[in-house]
Amino acid sequence: MNIPPLSNRLPRVLVTGSTGQDGSYLCRSLIAEGAVVFGMVGPEQESNATFARTEGVHYVDGDLRDAPSLRRALEQARPDEVYNLAAVTFVPSSWRDPGAIFDVNSLGVARLLAAIHDCGAPIRFCQASSAEIFGSSSSGQPRDEETPLRPDNPYGVSKAHAHRLVAHAREAHGLPACSAILFNHESPLRPAHFVTRKITLAVARIARGLDRELVLGNLDAARDWGYAPEYMDALRLMLRAREPRDYVVATGRAASVRDFANLAFAHVGLDWREYVRTDDSLQRSQDCSVRIGNASRIGSELGWKARTSLEELVAIMVDADLARIDAL
Ligand code: NAP
Repeated sequence: MNIPPLSNRLPRVLVTGSTGQDGSYLCRSLIAEGAVVFGMVGPEQESNATFARTEGVHYVDGDLRDAPSLRRALEQARPDEVYNLAAVTFVPSSWRDPGAIFDVNSLGVARLLAAIHDCGAPIRFCQASSAEIFGSSSSGQPRDEETPLRPDNPYGVSKAHAHRLVAHAREAHGLPACSAILFNHESPLRPAHFVTRKITLAVARIARGLDRELVLGNLDAARDWGYAPEYMDALRLMLRAREPRDYVVATGRAASVRDFANLAFAHVGLDWREYVRTDDSLQRSQDCSVRIGNASRIGSELGWKARTSLEELVAIMVDADLARIDAL
């Protein structure tokens, strides 16, 4: 998607979480538009030369838990735009080490905002916020920017905290900052411990005769699943809007894990009921909830809308997993 930068000059951009799913897609689209892109590389990868690099990106070290490293990353990048995608992201394990989640997802954002503020330069900032800030609901009522924040797990609380910090930086300190309230978005780059990728990988393995069954938790859990690259277009649009403000980024439709599995198996000509087994131990307390976002504000104000259907998304993911297996 062609999104013009705010000035005539091509922007310098710092992307945190640049090696994750979203960071990879965002870096690719920024490079494609000609931006000078600096990808912050987290502590796990500092000594690891094999992480998936995006061609053209300048990688700089930086850890959201370490304020001096953030200042150094900003000095190296001298960015016009900062996208903060770095986070500890797997919700089900967020009670295992809540301290680590808060250190990165909440305090890390405070450290980064403070470092940007101290630069004194007019840096635009976009935070990857999350639908988890609203908590779970069984009503299925779509959430929008006015929905009260009621997070109900450590990850959601950490994201809600960061969300409010960004609003404060904008409202009290005039920082051109915004939060994208992202509902689930998937792609072939999604790690295999997330349910969508767990399904597409298993379907590909079953289709190639490498596995015989797929074990899942609650099949009724329903989520608003979009396609990750499109969501990164939304972030660029938001950050470059004349008046940065927060927007929900979602498709507006929900589908259950059962629907997702059905589509994935159907894509390779199989009937999901012959391969899927459920295991109660894999169920989570909030799995019954339905999460749907109402993205009409970003649609009417910035012209963004999700274009990839769930059927297309599932096909993209299954085909990518089939191709990976065939390449082995
Ligand atoms: P991801 O694939 O898990 O990527 C997270 C990135 O954060 C990784 O590159 C990771 O680097 C980095 N990171 C972790 N701890 C760090 C630290 N202490 N300092 C610096 N970097 C650190 O996540 P994603 O799916 O791309 O999500 C991107 C953002 O969107 C996250 O903030 C997430 O909370 C938010 N979000 C995502 C979704 C979704 O459906 N994908 C939905 C709502 C919100 P290492 O690999 O080196 O640890």
